[in-house]
Amino acid sequence: MMTTEIVRPDIQSLRRAAEIIKGGGLVAMPTETVYGLAGNAYDPDACGKIFVAKGRPQDNPLIIHVSNLDMLYKSVKYVPELALRLAERFWSGPLTMIFKKDSIVPDATSGGLDTVAVRMPDNEAALNLIELCGFPLAAPSANLSGSPSPTSAGHVYEDLCGRIPMIIDGGECRTGVESTVICFTDDDTAIKILRPGAVTAEMLAEYADVTLDGNVFKKPDENERVLSPGMKYKHYSPKTEIIIVETDNAQALAEFLNEKAGEKICAVLYGDETGINVPRIDYGVTAEQRAHNLFAALRETDGLGVKTAYVRCPEKTGLGTAVYNRLLRAAAFRVVKI
Ligand code: AMP
Ligand code: MG
Repeated sequence: MMTTEIVRPDIQSLRRAAEIIKGGGLVAMPTETVYGLAGNAYDPDACGKIFVAKGRPQDNPLIIHVSNLDMLYKSVKYVPELALRLAERFWSGPLTMIFKKDSIVPDATSGGLDTVAVRMPDNEAALNLIELCGFPLAAPSANLSGSPSPTSAGHVYEDLCGRIPMIIDGGECRTGVESTVICFTDDDTAIKILRPGAVTAEMLAEYADVTLDGNVFKKPDENERVLSPGMKYKHYSPKTEIIIVETDNAQALAEFLNEKAGEKICAVLYGDETGINVPRIDYGVTAEQRAHNLFAALRETDGLGVKTAYVRCPEKTGLGTAVYNRLLRAAAFRVVKI
């Protein structure tokens, strides 16, 4: 077991973090989406350590994080025109694009695929750290594989204490859900969303024809070859069993929950519901708040000593698409409609 230090994102600490990474080690860094577990994207051994620290399946590829377009060009075979337009509009920001990879990106990083996922995070500490390293950083969410993604340094510490030497504490992540992942189905006009995020289908539709991959809202079939390997796995789950409750009727929701008062349950609600007699965690009345708070709320259910948490279903458009996609996986697709 190594000692895990939590540091502020000042220049001295970032320099030390860059030295650790240049030496083949790992550091957890803040981004605007969730915390990332960062290592040298061009070093197969460093990427191997990421999989071990997280307990992540080897065929689930890593996103590489760049701080400038030169790093993108160096990592991929070619950059479609449309990708450049999207980068201009949405980078730095929560949009990950998939390209044919250059051989400089090892198979360990791309999970054996001939493509690589790239984004530029909108976080000063992360961008400075990448610049100090001088190469892209592979950085999946800095949690144990399967558990809710970390949106604070404390969440990272809970999961990875003793497994990594350093966590850069940049406070709570602004967005709170992972980046939108897209691939190009036709170089200049069409894209597919493999994982929804804060760059929404509605926003992307101004630039291209957008389709949502069929697995965004469903569980991939047993032997299906999925475009985004991460979609196959159970994800984002606390120890508490999660069940989604879908309803437009606040009265019916209260009755449904109150019938279970006294059982080992809690509710994760928007916050404007009244007359509810079970322990509750509120995750927000707007889509932005729900995205920001979702993972922290899921983690919090484990502290309540309950067996089951009923989570009120978010809206399924805009940013709600991303929240619903994560929640479905946290709930292993269990949904009750009332
Ligand atoms: P994480 O870094 O934990 O947020 O997960 C990365 C997500 O991006 C997973 O859902 C991966 O399946 C997806 N991803 C990364 N690289 C690729 C790629 N080359 N092709 C398709 N999906 C990818
Ligand atoms: Mg993850």
